[in-house]
Amino acid sequence: MRALIIEPSPTYQRILSRMLESYDFDITFVDTATAGFRAMREHSFQFVCVAMYLADLTGIEFCQHVRSEGQAKALPIFIVTSESNPELLSSALAAGATDIVRKDDLPRLEEALHALIPLGPFRYNISGKALYLEDSLTVAKATDAKLKRLGLSMDHAFSIQQALELLQHNKYELIMTDIVLQDNETGIDFIKQLRSEVRFQQTPILAVTSLESVNRRILALQSGANDYISKPVLDEELFARINNLISANRLVDQLTRERQRLLELATKDHLTGLYNRHFMGEVAKRRFAEANKQQLPLSLLVIDIDHFKQVNDQHGHHIGDKVLKRLAEALREQFSEQDCIARFGGEEFVVLLHQCDLTDATAKAQQLCERLQQLKPEGIATSASIGVTSLNPAQTEYFDEVFARADKALYQAKQSGRNQVVASSA
Ligand code: GH3
Ligand code: MG
Ligand code: MG
Ligand code: MG
Repeated sequence: MRALIIEPSPTYQRILSRMLESYDFDITFVDTATAGFRAMREHSFQFVCVAMYLADLTGIEFCQHVRSEGQAKALPIFIVTSESNPELLSSALAAGATDIVRKDDLPRLEEALHALIPLGPFRYNISGKALYLEDSLTVAKATDAKLKRLGLSMDHAFSIQQALELLQHNKYELIMTDIVLQDNETGIDFIKQLRSEVRFQQTPILAVTSLESVNRRILALQSGANDYISKPVLDEELFARINNLISANRLVDQLTRERQRLLELATKDHLTGLYNRHFMGEVAKRRFAEANKQQLPLSLLVIDIDHFKQVNDQHGHHIGDKVLKRLAEALREQFSEQDCIARFGGEEFVVLLHQCDLTDATAKAQQLCERLQQLKPEGIATSASIGVTSLNPAQTEYFDEVFARADKALYQAKQSGRNQVVASSA
């Protein structure tokens, strides 16, 4: 952050510089208004302190000049003076000074800095886009300019329909909505509609309400707005609320991603991305309970790659890994989302076939067996032996018993010459 100090007295330059030090400002000192204007053309400042009497202009004239440029409307400019009279104060404020501070009351300047710095838009680290549903073009334009200072670009919609269309094609960090709209539409309807859709359930929504309508504010919050702001909107309040909403949402996003990542680590196999043995056990518990209770068919395949040791021996472990990955992909291609596929151990896979009886399961296993033989991952001929079995509908069975039966069938397939399916009925 940069501060500009226009002060002819070296003593006050020193005093001000010491005060600003703790705020981590880059300070530019000049002693005339002309030099001040030059510095402002070269840099953008977040804070200006100007003495009342300079060799070329007064502090008040300096303010007038800066404000007439129109670009630095929000820049805090403090006039420092040893005089104190109400007329001077009012003409300074009329000229656009943020405040006037007496030289014997510099702690006031510090208080003002405190108030400014935690809230100044230059403190926020926001980017991206906001959507504003607002039926007044004037209000929308003014808000657009404010949001730009925060680092947000804004799309404006006049109607709910238009807002929904923009939402189809854009990603927004924030949605703002006016409450009273044209054609009997309300921002409340819009908020309800957004919250009824899963993809907008987490998007921060800021309702913009008129000051006196307490009921509407409550209704907006009850409908799912995260926060509200009252018109006339105070810039610093708007910035602070938007910053809070967006930062909180980013935090939630980050936590969701981290949780997702931990879940993947805990449930999936690193090499193939298939589920791991532990997770298969969890899924199987639920599926077996459900199938036993509702008398639904459920089948299990145990798949073991034939002579896989030879693949490693002949082509190296690295190629062996690639082959395993490709075989896992083939498994994913072969079965549906409902079926749970896991890598159980080195080159052994288990598939839990959802609502599938022994006849269908055997047919699927047969297809897979043929597919794996055709696949030739890394140009290497591979095959698999598969044991198949199903839950016995006549009695309550659990995963371990059914797995043991399928594993036995697999053993038979190996014994009978590999590259084949053996089905075992309960
Ligand atoms: P069989 O037809 O009797 O199943 O013969 P096989 O060689 O496949 O069976 P065996 O159990 O003797 O050997 C399995 C091999 O799988 C040995 C091991 O090096 C290899 N293997 C296990 N996990 C991995 C892995 O993650 N990567 C690679 N590249 N090889 C693995
Ligand atoms: Mg309106
Ligand atoms: Mg094997
Ligand atoms: Mg094995």
